[in-house]
Amino acid sequence: MSEYRTIEDLGNLNGKVVMLRADLNVPMDENFNVTNTARIDRTVPTIKELMSKGAKVVVISHFGRPEGKGDIKNSLSHVAKPLEKALGKKVVFVDDCIGPKVENAIKSMKADEVLLLENLRYYNEEKKGDENFAKELTKPVDAYVSDAFSTAHRAHASMVAAVKTKPAAFGRLMEEEVNALTKGLNNPQRPLMAIVGGSKVSTKLDLLNNLVKKVDKLVISGGMAHTFMKANGINTINEANSLVQIDMLETAKEIMATAKANNCEIILPVDVVVSKEFKPMAEHKTVDLEHIPAEGWSLLDVGEKTIAAINAKLDEVKTLVWNGPLGVFEMKPFDNATNKVAQHAAQLTQAGKLTSVAGGGDTVSALANAGVENKFSYISTAGGAFLEWMEGKELPGVVVLKK
Ligand code: AMP
Repeated sequence: MSEYRTIEDLGNLNGKVVMLRADLNVPMDENFNVTNTARIDRTVPTIKELMSKGAKVVVISHFGRPEGKGDIKNSLSHVAKPLEKALGKKVVFVDDCIGPKVENAIKSMKADEVLLLENLRYYNEEKKGDENFAKELTKPVDAYVSDAFSTAHRAHASMVAAVKTKPAAFGRLMEEEVNALTKGLNNPQRPLMAIVGGSKVSTKLDLLNNLVKKVDKLVISGGMAHTFMKANGINTINEANSLVQIDMLETAKEIMATAKANNCEIILPVDVVVSKEFKPMAEHKTVDLEHIPAEGWSLLDVGEKTIAAINAKLDEVKTLVWNGPLGVFEMKPFDNATNKVAQHAAQLTQAGKLTSVAGGGDTVSALANAGVENKFSYISTAGGAFLEWMEGKELPGVVVLKK
Protein backbone atom coordinates (compact mmCIF):
# COMPACT_ATOMS: atom_id res chain seq x y z
CA MET A 1 0.00 0.00 0.00
CA SER A 2 2.11 2.84 -1.25
CA GLU A 3 -0.40 5.65 -0.77
CA TYR A 4 0.14 5.85 2.99
CA ARG A 5 3.19 5.79 5.21
CA THR A 6 3.79 2.40 6.81
CA ILE A 7 6.30 1.04 9.32
CA GLU A 8 8.77 0.43 6.46
CA ASP A 9 8.91 4.19 5.88
CA LEU A 10 10.24 4.75 9.41
CA GLY A 11 13.61 3.23 8.52
CA ASN A 12 15.86 1.65 11.11
CA LEU A 13 14.10 1.57 14.48
CA ASN A 14 16.85 -0.13 16.44
CA GLY A 15 17.27 1.66 19.76
CA LYS A 16 14.54 4.19 18.91
CA VAL A 17 11.63 5.06 21.20
CA VAL A 18 8.37 4.61 19.30
CA MET A 19 5.01 5.85 20.55
CA LEU A 20 2.10 3.65 19.46
CA ARG A 21 -1.41 5.14 19.38
CA ALA A 22 -3.58 2.07 19.92
CA ASP A 23 -7.25 1.58 20.67
CA LEU A 24 -7.38 -0.09 24.07
CA ASN A 25 -10.88 1.10 24.80
CA VAL A 26 -12.01 -2.38 25.84
CA PRO A 27 -15.27 -3.29 27.60
CA MET A 28 -14.99 -4.03 31.33
CA ASP A 29 -17.23 -5.37 34.10
CA GLU A 30 -17.79 -3.59 37.42
CA ASN A 31 -14.66 -5.23 38.90
CA PHE A 32 -12.49 -3.85 36.08
CA ASN A 33 -12.09 -7.21 34.38
CA VAL A 34 -11.83 -6.95 30.61
CA THR A 35 -14.83 -8.75 29.10
CA ASN A 36 -13.60 -8.80 25.50
CA THR A 37 -9.91 -8.65 24.66
CA ALA A 38 -10.31 -8.29 20.87
CA ARG A 39 -8.89 -4.76 20.74
CA ILE A 40 -5.91 -5.71 22.91
CA ASP A 41 -5.22 -8.82 20.83
CA ARG A 42 -5.32 -6.84 17.59
CA THR A 43 -2.77 -4.33 18.91
CA VAL A 44 -0.26 -7.02 19.86
CA PRO A 45 1.19 -7.78 16.37
CA THR A 46 2.24 -4.15 15.81
CA ILE A 47 3.84 -3.93 19.28
CA LYS A 48 5.71 -7.20 18.72
CA GLU A 49 6.91 -6.16 15.30
CA LEU A 50 8.21 -2.82 16.58
CA MET A 51 10.00 -4.60 19.45
CA SER A 52 11.49 -7.14 17.07
CA LYS A 53 12.97 -4.22 15.14
CA GLY A 54 14.73 -3.12 18.33
CA ALA A 55 12.35 -0.28 19.22
CA LYS A 56 11.24 0.64 22.72
CA VAL A 57 7.46 0.86 22.56
CA VAL A 58 5.34 3.37 24.49
CA VAL A 59 1.63 2.63 24.12
CA ILE A 60 -1.04 5.33 24.39
CA SER A 61 -4.83 5.15 24.05
CA HIS A 62 -8.10 6.72 25.09
CA PHE A 63 -10.36 4.84 27.46
CA GLY A 64 -14.05 5.52 28.10
CA ARG A 65 -15.34 9.01 28.74
CA PRO A 66 -13.44 10.23 31.80
CA GLU A 67 -14.61 13.25 33.70
CA GLY A 68 -11.12 14.73 34.00
CA LYS A 69 -7.98 13.43 35.63
CA GLY A 70 -8.09 10.84 38.40
CA ASP A 71 -11.35 9.20 37.33
CA ILE A 72 -10.24 5.69 38.34
CA LYS A 73 -13.14 4.04 36.49
CA ASN A 74 -11.57 5.20 33.26
CA SER A 75 -7.93 4.55 34.08
CA LEU A 76 -5.90 2.55 31.59
CA SER A 77 -4.13 0.95 34.56
CA HIS A 78 -6.83 -1.75 34.38
CA VAL A 79 -5.59 -2.71 30.93
CA ALA A 80 -1.91 -3.15 31.89
CA LYS A 81 -2.22 -6.76 33.10
CA PRO A 82 -4.42 -7.97 30.22
CA LEU A 83 -2.00 -6.34 27.76
CA GLU A 84 0.93 -7.98 29.51
CA LYS A 85 -0.82 -11.35 29.24
CA ALA A 86 -1.61 -10.94 25.54
CA LEU A 87 1.88 -9.72 24.76
CA GLY A 88 3.92 -12.06 26.94
CA LYS A 89 6.13 -9.08 27.93
CA LYS A 90 6.29 -6.92 31.03
CA VAL A 91 4.04 -3.84 30.79
CA VAL A 92 4.99 -0.90 33.00
CA PHE A 93 2.11 1.50 33.64
CA VAL A 94 2.75 5.25 34.06
CA ASP A 95 -0.09 7.23 35.62
CA ASP A 96 0.18 10.17 33.23
CA CYS A 97 0.63 10.53 29.50
CA ILE A 98 2.74 13.71 29.40
CA GLY A 99 5.37 15.35 31.60
CA PRO A 100 8.38 14.34 33.71
CA LYS A 101 6.91 11.06 34.98
CA VAL A 102 6.70 9.80 31.42
CA GLU A 103 10.12 11.14 30.48
CA ASN A 104 11.73 9.41 33.48
CA ALA A 105 9.92 6.16 32.83
CA ILE A 106 11.16 6.14 29.23
CA LYS A 107 14.74 6.81 30.40
CA SER A 108 14.65 3.86 32.77
CA MET A 109 12.87 1.52 30.39
CA LYS A 110 14.49 -1.92 30.10
CA ALA A 111 14.79 -3.88 26.89
CA ASP A 112 11.85 -6.26 26.51
CA GLU A 113 9.49 -3.97 28.45
CA VAL A 114 6.58 -1.96 27.16
CA LEU A 115 5.31 1.27 28.69
CA LEU A 116 1.59 1.93 28.89
CA LEU A 117 0.64 5.54 29.58
CA GLU A 118 -2.51 6.84 31.26
CA ASN A 119 -5.72 7.67 29.38
CA LEU A 120 -5.23 10.46 26.83
CA ARG A 121 -8.71 11.77 27.55
CA TYR A 122 -7.72 12.77 31.08
CA TYR A 123 -6.68 15.89 29.20
CA ASN A 124 -9.42 17.85 27.41
CA GLU A 125 -6.76 18.93 24.91
CA GLU A 126 -6.88 15.45 23.39
CA LYS A 127 -10.42 15.82 22.08
CA LYS A 128 -9.76 19.42 21.05
CA GLY A 129 -6.92 18.29 18.81
CA ASP A 130 -4.56 20.66 20.65
CA GLU A 131 -1.17 21.02 18.98
CA ASN A 132 0.76 21.91 22.12
CA PHE A 133 -0.60 18.85 23.89
CA ALA A 134 0.42 16.74 20.90
CA LYS A 135 3.96 18.16 21.07
CA GLU A 136 4.16 17.41 24.80
CA LEU A 137 2.96 13.89 24.13
CA THR A 138 5.59 13.03 21.56
CA LYS A 139 8.45 15.10 23.06
CA PRO A 140 10.24 12.10 24.60
CA VAL A 141 9.93 9.76 21.59
CA ASP A 142 11.67 9.37 18.21
CA ALA A 143 8.82 8.13 16.04
CA TYR A 144 5.03 7.76 16.08
CA VAL A 145 2.83 4.89 14.91
CA SER A 146 -0.92 5.39 14.52
CA ASP A 147 -2.86 2.15 14.86
CA ALA A 148 -6.28 3.20 16.17
CA PHE A 149 -8.43 2.98 13.05
CA SER A 150 -11.58 3.00 15.17
CA THR A 151 -10.78 6.59 16.21
CA ALA A 152 -9.57 7.73 12.77
CA HIS A 153 -12.78 9.68 12.11
CA ARG A 154 -11.94 12.02 14.99
CA ALA A 155 -9.36 14.79 14.57
CA HIS A 156 -8.14 14.32 18.14
CA ALA A 157 -4.63 15.41 19.15
CA SER A 158 -3.23 11.88 19.17
CA MET A 159 -4.82 11.06 15.80
CA VAL A 160 -3.75 14.12 13.80
CA ALA A 161 -1.60 16.77 15.50
CA ALA A 162 0.75 14.24 17.13
CA VAL A 163 1.30 12.50 13.81
CA LYS A 164 2.75 15.72 12.40
CA THR A 165 5.31 16.17 15.16
CA LYS A 166 7.59 13.19 14.45
CA PRO A 167 8.35 10.68 11.69
CA ALA A 168 5.07 8.77 11.63
CA ALA A 169 3.37 5.78 10.04
CA PHE A 170 0.32 3.52 10.14
CA GLY A 171 0.51 0.50 12.44
CA ARG A 172 -0.35 -2.88 10.94
CA LEU A 173 -3.96 -2.85 12.13
CA MET A 174 -4.62 0.55 10.60
CA GLU A 175 -2.91 -0.60 7.42
CA GLU A 176 -5.04 -3.75 7.30
CA GLU A 177 -8.30 -1.81 7.84
CA VAL A 178 -7.50 0.83 5.24
CA ASN A 179 -6.43 -1.82 2.73
CA ALA A 180 -9.63 -3.80 3.26
CA LEU A 181 -11.89 -0.77 2.96
CA THR A 182 -10.06 0.45 -0.12
CA LYS A 183 -10.64 -2.94 -1.76
CA GLY A 184 -14.26 -2.82 -0.65
CA LEU A 185 -15.29 0.63 -1.83
CA ASN A 186 -12.59 2.82 -3.33
CA ASN A 187 -10.98 0.40 -5.71
CA PRO A 188 -13.28 -2.64 -5.86
CA GLN A 189 -13.54 -5.43 -8.34
CA ARG A 190 -16.93 -5.00 -10.01
CA PRO A 191 -19.78 -5.72 -9.94
CA LEU A 192 -19.93 -4.24 -6.44
CA MET A 193 -22.90 -4.84 -4.17
CA ALA A 194 -23.78 -3.27 -0.84
CA ILE A 195 -26.16 -4.60 1.78
CA VAL A 196 -27.55 -2.01 4.15
CA GLY A 197 -29.84 -3.01 6.97
CA GLY A 198 -30.58 -1.74 10.43
CA SER A 199 -33.41 0.13 11.97
CA LYS A 200 -34.00 3.57 10.49
CA VAL A 201 -33.38 5.41 7.23
CA SER A 202 -32.74 8.67 9.06
CA THR A 203 -29.52 7.35 10.64
CA LYS A 204 -28.10 6.13 7.34
CA LEU A 205 -28.89 8.90 4.87
CA ASP A 206 -25.29 9.89 4.13
CA LEU A 207 -24.40 6.25 3.76
CA LEU A 208 -27.19 5.51 1.27
CA ASN A 209 -26.56 8.68 -0.71
CA ASN A 210 -22.91 7.77 -1.11
CA LEU A 211 -23.53 4.12 -1.91
CA VAL A 212 -26.08 4.67 -4.67
CA LYS A 213 -23.43 6.63 -6.54
CA LYS A 214 -20.74 3.98 -6.10
CA VAL A 215 -22.22 0.50 -6.07
CA ASP A 216 -23.83 -1.53 -8.86
CA LYS A 217 -26.42 -3.20 -6.63
CA LEU A 218 -27.82 -2.05 -3.30
CA VAL A 219 -29.83 -4.34 -1.04
CA ILE A 220 -31.92 -2.40 1.45
CA SER A 221 -33.33 -4.51 4.27
CA GLY A 222 -34.09 -4.37 8.00
CA GLY A 223 -36.42 -1.78 9.46
CA MET A 224 -35.16 0.89 7.08
CA ALA A 225 -36.50 -1.00 4.06
CA HIS A 226 -40.06 -0.30 5.21
CA THR A 227 -39.79 3.38 4.30
CA PHE A 228 -38.53 2.51 0.81
CA MET A 229 -41.27 -0.08 0.32
CA LYS A 230 -43.94 2.41 1.39
CA ALA A 231 -42.43 5.04 -0.93
CA ASN A 232 -42.77 2.44 -3.72
CA GLY A 233 -46.48 2.22 -3.07
CA ILE A 234 -46.66 -0.86 -0.81
CA ASN A 235 -49.67 0.40 1.11
CA THR A 236 -49.89 -2.56 3.48
CA ILE A 237 -46.94 -1.04 5.36
CA ASN A 238 -47.88 1.42 8.10
CA GLU A 239 -46.63 2.84 11.38
CA ALA A 240 -48.53 0.21 13.38
CA ASN A 241 -46.80 -2.76 11.79
CA SER A 242 -43.32 -1.47 10.92
CA LEU A 243 -40.56 1.07 11.45
CA VAL A 244 -41.68 3.11 8.41
CA GLN A 245 -40.68 6.77 8.71
CA ILE A 246 -43.44 8.72 6.99
CA ASP A 247 -41.39 11.95 7.10
CA MET A 248 -38.68 10.19 5.10
CA LEU A 249 -40.81 9.00 2.17
CA GLU A 250 -39.70 11.84 -0.11
CA THR A 251 -36.09 11.29 0.88
CA ALA A 252 -36.40 7.60 0.06
CA LYS A 253 -37.81 8.50 -3.36
CA GLU A 254 -34.91 10.89 -3.97
CA ILE A 255 -32.39 8.18 -3.04
CA MET A 256 -34.07 5.76 -5.46
CA ALA A 257 -34.00 8.40 -8.21
CA THR A 258 -30.29 9.02 -7.64
CA ALA A 259 -29.73 5.28 -7.79
CA LYS A 260 -31.53 5.07 -11.12
CA ALA A 261 -29.51 7.97 -12.52
CA ASN A 262 -26.34 6.17 -11.50
CA ASN A 263 -27.34 2.72 -12.80
CA CYS A 264 -27.50 1.32 -9.30
CA GLU A 265 -30.04 -1.48 -8.95
CA ILE A 266 -31.96 -1.35 -5.67
CA ILE A 267 -33.13 -4.66 -4.22
CA LEU A 268 -35.99 -4.44 -1.71
CA PRO A 269 -37.81 -7.20 0.19
CA VAL A 270 -40.47 -9.15 -1.75
CA ASP A 271 -41.75 -11.04 1.30
CA VAL A 272 -41.51 -10.45 5.04
CA VAL A 273 -41.74 -12.30 8.35
CA VAL A 274 -44.40 -10.80 10.60
CA SER A 275 -44.59 -11.51 14.30
CA LYS A 276 -47.39 -11.23 16.88
CA GLU A 277 -45.02 -9.92 19.56
CA PHE A 278 -41.56 -8.38 19.85
CA LYS A 279 -39.95 -11.29 21.65
CA PRO A 280 -37.93 -14.40 20.79
CA MET A 281 -39.90 -17.30 19.29
CA ALA A 282 -43.08 -15.26 19.13
CA GLU A 283 -45.86 -16.51 16.85
CA HIS A 284 -44.86 -15.54 13.31
CA LYS A 285 -45.54 -16.18 9.63
CA THR A 286 -44.05 -15.29 6.26
CA VAL A 287 -46.25 -13.25 3.95
CA ASP A 288 -46.04 -11.62 0.54
CA LEU A 289 -46.22 -7.84 0.54
CA GLU A 290 -49.90 -7.66 -0.40
CA HIS A 291 -50.81 -9.89 2.58
CA ILE A 292 -49.05 -7.94 5.32
CA PRO A 293 -51.61 -7.57 8.15
CA ALA A 294 -52.48 -3.93 8.82
CA GLU A 295 -52.19 -4.30 12.59
CA GLY A 296 -51.51 -6.80 15.35
CA TRP A 297 -48.30 -8.02 13.66
CA SER A 298 -44.83 -6.44 13.22
CA LEU A 299 -42.37 -6.85 10.35
CA LEU A 300 -39.24 -8.32 11.98
CA ASP A 301 -37.38 -10.07 9.17
CA VAL A 302 -37.45 -10.71 5.44
CA GLY A 303 -38.72 -13.99 4.00
CA GLU A 304 -37.23 -16.88 2.02
CA LYS A 305 -38.07 -15.40 -1.41
CA THR A 306 -36.14 -12.25 -0.50
CA ILE A 307 -33.25 -14.31 0.85
CA ALA A 308 -33.11 -16.31 -2.40
CA ALA A 309 -33.19 -13.09 -4.45
CA ILE A 310 -30.34 -11.52 -2.45
CA ASN A 311 -28.26 -14.69 -2.62
CA ALA A 312 -28.77 -14.92 -6.38
CA LYS A 313 -27.51 -11.33 -6.72
CA LEU A 314 -24.50 -12.23 -4.57
CA ASP A 315 -23.62 -14.92 -7.11
CA GLU A 316 -23.37 -12.21 -9.77
CA VAL A 317 -20.99 -9.83 -7.97
CA LYS A 318 -17.30 -9.81 -7.10
CA THR A 319 -17.32 -7.48 -4.10
CA LEU A 320 -19.68 -7.02 -1.16
CA VAL A 321 -19.78 -4.30 1.50
CA TRP A 322 -22.24 -4.85 4.31
CA ASN A 323 -23.55 -2.74 7.14
CA GLY A 324 -26.60 -3.51 9.27
CA PRO A 325 -28.65 -6.66 9.91
CA LEU A 326 -31.48 -7.73 7.59
CA GLY A 327 -33.87 -8.27 10.49
CA VAL A 328 -34.08 -8.29 14.28
CA PHE A 329 -31.13 -10.66 14.52
CA GLU A 330 -30.98 -10.46 18.32
CA MET A 331 -34.10 -12.66 18.59
CA LYS A 332 -34.60 -16.12 17.11
CA PRO A 333 -35.93 -16.89 14.54
CA PHE A 334 -35.75 -13.33 13.23
CA ASP A 335 -32.03 -13.75 12.61
CA ASN A 336 -32.86 -16.16 9.78
CA ALA A 337 -32.33 -13.85 6.78
CA THR A 338 -29.18 -12.27 8.20
CA ASN A 339 -27.77 -15.74 8.90
CA LYS A 340 -28.59 -17.26 5.53
CA VAL A 341 -27.30 -14.34 3.48
CA ALA A 342 -24.18 -14.07 5.66
CA GLN A 343 -23.51 -17.78 5.27
CA HIS A 344 -23.92 -17.59 1.50
CA ALA A 345 -21.54 -14.62 1.30
CA ALA A 346 -19.08 -16.53 3.49
CA GLN A 347 -19.24 -19.58 1.21
CA LEU A 348 -18.59 -17.48 -1.88
CA THR A 349 -15.71 -15.77 -0.10
CA GLN A 350 -14.17 -19.08 0.95
CA ALA A 351 -14.49 -20.33 -2.64
CA GLY A 352 -12.48 -17.30 -3.81
CA LYS A 353 -15.41 -15.83 -5.75
CA LEU A 354 -16.18 -12.83 -3.56
CA THR A 355 -14.35 -10.14 -1.60
CA SER A 356 -16.56 -9.45 1.40
CA VAL A 357 -16.08 -6.50 3.74
CA ALA A 358 -18.42 -5.79 6.62
CA GLY A 359 -18.50 -3.64 9.70
CA GLY A 360 -20.07 -0.98 11.84
CA GLY A 361 -21.81 -1.42 15.18
CA ASP A 362 -24.28 -4.29 15.28
CA THR A 363 -23.03 -5.85 12.06
CA VAL A 364 -20.11 -7.50 13.82
CA SER A 365 -22.38 -9.23 16.36
CA ALA A 366 -24.93 -10.10 13.66
CA LEU A 367 -22.24 -11.82 11.59
CA ALA A 368 -20.77 -13.51 14.66
CA ASN A 369 -24.28 -14.81 15.43
CA ALA A 370 -24.33 -16.24 11.89
CA GLY A 371 -21.02 -18.02 12.62
CA VAL A 372 -19.15 -16.32 9.78
CA GLU A 373 -16.87 -13.94 11.66
CA ASN A 374 -13.74 -15.62 10.30
CA LYS A 375 -15.13 -16.38 6.87
CA PHE A 376 -15.47 -12.91 5.38
CA SER A 377 -12.51 -11.24 3.68
CA TYR A 378 -12.60 -8.57 6.36
CA ILE A 379 -14.83 -7.60 9.25
CA SER A 380 -13.99 -4.21 10.69
CA THR A 381 -14.45 -3.74 14.40
CA ALA A 382 -14.45 0.04 14.00
CA GLY A 383 -17.99 1.39 14.34
CA GLY A 384 -18.09 5.11 13.57
CA ALA A 385 -14.94 5.13 11.45
CA PHE A 386 -16.23 2.29 9.25
CA LEU A 387 -19.56 4.05 8.73
CA GLU A 388 -17.92 7.36 7.86
CA TRP A 389 -15.75 5.53 5.32
CA MET A 390 -18.90 4.01 3.80
CA GLU A 391 -20.40 7.49 3.75
CA GLY A 392 -17.49 8.51 1.54
CA LYS A 393 -15.95 10.87 4.09
CA GLU A 394 -12.24 11.35 4.46
CA LEU A 395 -11.04 10.22 7.87
CA PRO A 396 -8.64 12.78 9.39
CA GLY A 397 -6.54 10.10 11.12
CA VAL A 398 -6.05 8.31 7.79
CA VAL A 399 -5.54 11.31 5.49
CA VAL A 400 -2.81 12.70 7.73
CA LEU A 401 -0.61 9.73 6.83
CA LYS A 402 -0.95 10.06 3.06
CA LYS A 403 2.46 10.20 1.43
P1 AMP B 1 -28.56 -0.02 13.16
O1 AMP B 1 -27.93 0.30 14.48
O2 AMP B 1 -29.29 1.10 12.53
O3 AMP B 1 -27.61 -0.75 12.22
O4 AMP B 1 -29.71 -1.03 13.49
C1 AMP B 1 -29.49 -2.29 14.04
C2 AMP B 1 -30.79 -2.72 14.66
O5 AMP B 1 -31.79 -2.77 13.66
C3 AMP B 1 -30.73 -4.09 15.28
O6 AMP B 1 -30.84 -3.95 16.66
C4 AMP B 1 -31.91 -4.81 14.67
O7 AMP B 1 -32.66 -5.52 15.65
C5 AMP B 1 -32.75 -3.67 14.12
N1 AMP B 1 -33.63 -4.11 13.06
C6 AMP B 1 -33.33 -4.74 11.92
N2 AMP B 1 -34.43 -5.05 11.23
C7 AMP B 1 -35.48 -4.62 11.94
C8 AMP B 1 -36.89 -4.65 11.77
N3 AMP B 1 -37.43 -5.23 10.70
N4 AMP B 1 -37.66 -4.11 12.72
C9 AMP B 1 -37.10 -3.56 13.82
N5 AMP B 1 -35.78 -3.47 14.04
C10 AMP B 1 -34.97 -4.01 13.12
